[in-house]
Amino acid sequence: MLQENTKIPQATAKRLPLYYRFIQNLHASGKLRVSSAELSEAVKVDSATIRRDFSYFGALGKKGYGYNVNYLLSFFRKTLDQDELTQVALIGVGNLGTAFLNYNFMKNNNTKIEMAFDVSPEKVGTFIGDVPIFDMDALESKLSNSNIKVAILTVPSHAAQPITDRLVAANVKAILNFTPARLSVPDAIRVHHIDLAVELQSLVYFLKHYPAGGTEE
Ligand code: ATP
Repeated sequence: MLQENTKIPQATAKRLPLYYRFIQNLHASGKLRVSSAELSEAVKVDSATIRRDFSYFGALGKKGYGYNVNYLLSFFRKTLDQDELTQVALIGVGNLGTAFLNYNFMKNNNTKIEMAFDVSPEKVGTFIGDVPIFDMDALESKLSNSNIKVAILTVPSHAAQPITDRLVAANVKAILNFTPARLSVPDAIRVHHIDLAVELQSLVYFLKHYPAGGTEE
């Protein structure tokens, strides 16, 4: 599947989980087909973009018929590797990290935080839900005995880069970075950056300067 994925533009690939979630709901409610207009209304992406995105998947909607829900569902499941559980590690069990450990990612996608790491002696050796919290000293050994290739970073920003270097050395290929730090990684490593404070600030800015509203692309 990866080979095929590489041909999909990144902006399209980023929308896949959004489409997948909606198509799952449609399937669960017994719907057999969906039009791009219905999809557009539900996921708030304009229908021309949806048609273009879907053309990359080989899903060509018929006029007056729309898209076949079962076809889309099996396409998304395969493309997003939903038949396989993706195990994730979380580094930094502070307020944000704890919230993620309590959040059930499995509800909407086949992803599970398998283990967490921290430096705080009060946290190390405890569990949040069924997730064990290990000492940072055990990072390399625990990761090397696992299939984990994805990590979530919720540490203070000063700790982010050195931890990233260790994760990369321990064969982690993708990092979801919630710290404000901009990370340097080798080209083969994928980093997605979510700075909640910046997002909130940007939302407030748009509220003030573009009061008519709208949805971000
Ligand atoms: P808390 O209220 O528990 O301190 P917080 O989110 O406000 O949470 P932060 O200072 O952002 O606190 O730290 C987040 C977590 O990262 C804490 O649990 C902290 O112990 C942990 N942490 C700090 N430095 C490191 C490090 N070098 N490696 C791993 N974890 C670290």
